[in-house]
Parts: sequence; C-alpha cells; structure tokens
Amino acid sequence: LLLLKASNSLSLSLQAKMSRPLQARRLEGIDKNIWVEFVKLASTYSTVNLGQGFPDFPPPDFLKEAFMKALSRENHMLHQYTRAFGHPPLVKILAQFFGKLLGQDLDPMTNVMVTVGAYQALFCCFQAFVDEGDEVIIIEPFFDCYESMVKMAGGTPVFVPLKLKAPKDGKLMSSADWQLDPAELASKFSKQTKAIVLNSPNNPLGKVFSRGEMELIADLCVKHDVLCFSDEVYEWLVYDGKEHIRIASLQGMWDRTVTIGSAGKTFSATGWKVGWTLGPNHLLKHLHTVHQNSVYHCATVAQEAVAQGFQRELELYGKPDSYFIQLPKLLQQKRDWLVQSLDAVGMKPIVPEGTYFLVADISEFKSDVPDVPNSDEPYDSRFAKWMVKNKGLAAIPLSAFYCGAHKNNYSHFIRFCFAKEEATLKAANDVLQKWKREKTSP
Ligand code: PMP
Repeated sequence: LLLLKASNSLSLSLQAKMSRPLQARRLEGIDKNIWVEFVKLASTYSTVNLGQGFPDFPPPDFLKEAFMKALSRENHMLHQYTRAFGHPPLVKILAQFFGKLLGQDLDPMTNVMVTVGAYQALFCCFQAFVDEGDEVIIIEPFFDCYESMVKMAGGTPVFVPLKLKAPKDGKLMSSADWQLDPAELASKFSKQTKAIVLNSPNNPLGKVFSRGEMELIADLCVKHDVLCFSDEVYEWLVYDGKEHIRIASLQGMWDRTVTIGSAGKTFSATGWKVGWTLGPNHLLKHLHTVHQNSVYHCATVAQEAVAQGFQRELELYGKPDSYFIQLPKLLQQKRDWLVQSLDAVGMKPIVPEGTYFLVADISEFKSDVPDVPNSDEPYDSRFAKWMVKNKGLAAIPLSAFYCGAHKNNYSHFIRFCFAKEEATLKAANDVLQKWKREKTSP
C-alpha cells in the first residue's frame, strides 16, 4: 500500500511538472496514421490480406542463402557496426550497378548512402533540404508519408492531382489514364518551391510516368531551380514492356536529384529494411548529416546479403535468369489474374503499368455498405473497414493517398496488393465471387 501511495504521488508530481504542452509542435496534425489503423484491422478481421504492400511469398533463395552465409561466416565482424553511410561492399556494388543505369561514374563513398529502408531515405531528404517557408510539390495520389515528413520538417506540401481521363469504348481503365495537367503542374512552381517528390512507378496507382511527363517535370525543376526526390522503389516492377525512366538521367537533373531505392521491393524482403540514396556529393553530404544524427547505421548482415544479391544481378543483368526479369514476369501474371477476377464481379480494375498494387472502382458495390450521413470519413475508408469486418478481405482506401482537402474527390476506389501467393489471390477471388452471388440472388 505504501509503495502504491508513493508511486501515485510520484505520478501526480510528474503530471504537475508536465502541465506545459508535451508534444513538440512539429508533430501537430500528423499523429494519425492510416497504416497503424488498417494494419490492426487486417490482423483482427482479415482472412485474406491484400492491404499493406508486402509479398507473402519468400525472397529468392540466393538472397536468403547470402544472408545465412553472412551470419555463419568466419568473419564475425559482420555482427558489428560497419561504415555509417553504408557497408563498403554494398555501396561499391550499388555504385557499379546504378552508375551504368544513370549514365554517371558513381563514387561509392560519396554518391551512395545506405538507409533503413527507402522510408529513412525519404526522411533524410526532407530533414536535410526542407526549411520553414519552403514548399514541396507532391503529385497525388501519393505514398502518404511524404505529406507528414514535409510537415515535420516545417515545410508546406503543395498538391497536384493526376487527372483521370476515362477510357472510351468500355475498355478497362489503365494507370496511364491518370495524367498530369502540364499547366496545373507549372502553376504550382513558385519562388518558395524547394523540391518536388516524384514516385514512378507510383504507389498506389501503378502509374509509370512516360518520358514526356518526366521531361516536363525535369524542365520545370531546371527552370525554377528545384530539387527532385525520386522515389523509385518499384523500379523493377514494370509491365507490358513499359520503360522505367530515371529522372536523374535526364538533362540537367543529376545535380538536383536524389534517387531512392529499396531492397525490400527489389528482392521481396520488405522486413530487412535496406534502402539507399544515390546522388551528387553536394546533396548526399547533407543526407549524411541527418543520417549520422538519427539512426547512424543500418544492420550489417542485411547489407552484406543485399550486396551479394546485387553482385548476382550484375552478372545476370538482362538475362532470363535475372530476378529483375523473373519477378516482374511473375507479378504481371498475378496482376492479370486479379484484374480478371475483379472485372468479373464488377469491381472495375485500373490496370497498373507497374508496382504490385491495383486500384479498383467500388461504385457498383456502394449499396452494400450502410450509409453514414454527414460522416467526415471518406466513403472508401468506410467501405474498406466494412469489407474487412464483414467479408474478411483487407484493402486500403485510395483517399488515404490524398491530402485532407482532396480526399472526398477520390473516394470510390480501393487499393489491392497482388504480390501474393496464388492461394491468397484465389481466396480473394472466392470472397468476391460469393459476395457477387449474394448481391445478385433475389
Ligand atoms: N516509397 C514507396 C512509394 C513505398 O511504397 C514504400 C513502401 N511501401 C516505401 C517508399 C518505403 O520502402 P521501405 O520499405 O524500403 O522503407
């Protein structure tokens, strides 16, 4: 009892001391996170999870073997810290591999920095370059953390939505039907603009920006002296012979672009959280400052295994056995399968040109979900919650990828992840077919 009394009076005195605001101002308005909410819903209710973006199949054997070899090697130093800005074998192979693709002679020590996933690479970019008063252009729909990371750095996000040009003749929609309006994009650049975030292939739509669109963005960046943070985590997941263009390889862009990649997406190992940034030294040296004052270092063994993975891929580049050829081939089949499955039940798919996501139009299913008059929550969010609770199928509402002011303009779409085993996709199809039968039976 005495102990309890003592601890109560201690917490009371702490509360008394902490009567001023606890939360730092930079956290205002960014405390809610869609993933926390939807990941919890999926783990509580879903039997089929096509929500969060991760493969439910294993990484390739060569990568797992490289990890195990790194763990069991004589060199026990792989269990210790390595170089802060990237394990030397990994930065060396990344420089070699991407130097060719970017048309640059990359110095592993100054033009490459390894991060804790692409997520930390993004965080470093916003912290290193964005100040109060700076604006950052974000193309909607966008991977949601861009907005909060800009705000946390004190900057102001400026949004420009892709516009849907509905296809004629009853053809299926494609992610290519979502296009930038050149005049609208140009109107967003101002003296305050510090950077633009480009994500191609784009999460959530799967849009692969065309060379024309890239050149438009590049010209505006050069004209207004603006930086580009190019999030290319889905660079290998491109379908139907489409080309992934690296904006840093366009005229005038190398000096102003940070290119971001992820071993999680590249090698189907999202849990390893190995990412990287590529760029000129005058940009990367500032990312170093953020990195060394935040996480400082990434897991050595995982970096070693990713280095081995890239070594293999360099040797097999462009050959049929390359994982960067095999993975998109496999995923394109899964995409086509889910497209057919959704189309058959009337959940109209937008065929993605890249990534492992597929957005579908839920308008035909609207009548199933009870209406909540005057709800602030976008319709697709209520729909996705209802679907996971009542049908066991998890997906993510598209409105989650829009800023607050635009959420309700795009609230009849949901996003599915198709990087899943055949059995998982079949289970999703069964849920949809059953639902469709229940809808149509009298
Ligand atoms: N960018 C985009 C567009 C993403 O979709 C993701 C992961 N969903 C990331 C960055 C983060 O990648 P990582 O897991 O390597 O941190």
